[in-house]
Amino acid sequence: MKIEAIDLFYVALPEIKLAADGTQDTLLCRVRADNGLYGWGESDSSPLVSLAAYVFPMSHSNIININEALLGETVDSVEDVRRLRAKAGAYGLDVQQLDHAVAAIDIALWDLVGKHLEQPVYKMLGYDKAHPKLPYASVLFGDTPDETRTIAEGLRGRGFAAAKFGWGPMGHGTAENDVALVAAAREGMGQHAQVMVDAGVVWGDDDETAYDRAVRFSEYDISWLEEPLLSEEVDAYKRLTDRKPPVKIAAGEGADFYRSADDLMLNGGIDFIQIDVGRTGGITVSDRICKRAQELGIQYVNHTFKSHLQLAASLHVFAGVPQFRLMEYPAGDSPLILGLTAPTGLPVNEKGMVDCPEAPGLGVDVNLDTVRKYLQRVKIEVNGKILHETPEV
Ligand SMILES: [Mg+2]
Repeated sequence: MKIEAIDLFYVALPEIKLAADGTQDTLLCRVRADNGLYGWGESDSSPLVSLAAYVFPMSHSNIININEALLGETVDSVEDVRRLRAKAGAYGLDVQQLDHAVAAIDIALWDLVGKHLEQPVYKMLGYDKAHPKLPYASVLFGDTPDETRTIAEGLRGRGFAAAKFGWGPMGHGTAENDVALVAAAREGMGQHAQVMVDAGVVWGDDDETAYDRAVRFSEYDISWLEEPLLSEEVDAYKRLTDRKPPVKIAAGEGADFYRSADDLMLNGGIDFIQIDVGRTGGITVSDRICKRAQELGIQYVNHTFKSHLQLAASLHVFAGVPQFRLMEYPAGDSPLILGLTAPTGLPVNEKGMVDCPEAPGLGVDVNLDTVRKYLQRVKIEVNGKILHETPEV
């Protein structure tokens, strides 16, 4: 197959709110081959910043856009996908935004080649069998403990046996308020559910406060404390984990490339590495991190706060590894979470687990009606030359 077109779509809700909620907009990529097959991908980034990485004019030999690297290329095999990921990386070597941007087409190429080879992506990554995952609902804390309790009760009512609460007021008030938020989440979810806490990097490099909260939260039997510190504060993570806090520590969504994830695993002492396939440069790089986590005996979990297209891409990366059991499952009410895939997203089965799709490629398709509904038309023109204009859906 030859890559005939790379179609980029910026979709967004009519109103973007000031909340740590990545499901309000997105960048979709459709790669079309000369035989009529296509693949879809999505990046977790600022959509227009990433879109620009596909079309900007060349600055010099290490700043060349992604379209230039990939259009017209041959892609028939897993080796081709890996080769093209490396080629886009080399063309955009000095482009800071490349890893987020290229994730969309890397995912789309795995989808395309999966359809071509008639294989689900997890098999292309070398696994024989996909293992179901326990989805944990991923939501933001309410503004108050009471609101948080109501959110938790709602999730419990929807049948979730695990849920993560994050960001919002956590870390912005007193220690007592932080504890009250966690207590409310636990109360709302009940005694038997798994509850995780995401501090949203609020304590920066302050491992003392992070340790204090880990001790206080341990009373509520939480499965992990996520991102108590900033991603790049690996030394602070090390100081925190050296003290053996009574709860497990998770981090990694801020890792933008292989080395930053590896740094956290090797030098941060974390228990769970959380990787966003739409940020770290796609399935190719996430797969490498997942295999590294297996080597190091660290739990790999997806980070996903986008659509179920992204969720499917995330799942294929670790579906083949039975010991990696948990899966972040976006559970907010944005129409871009479930609405972007057709006919549905990845459902929770009757046992409360999520199965990896067995259909070729990612095993989910994009709902073009949703794309049309939320499409933001974009035209980028420099000195009269049009670098990008939103293609036909
Ligand atoms: Mg998080």
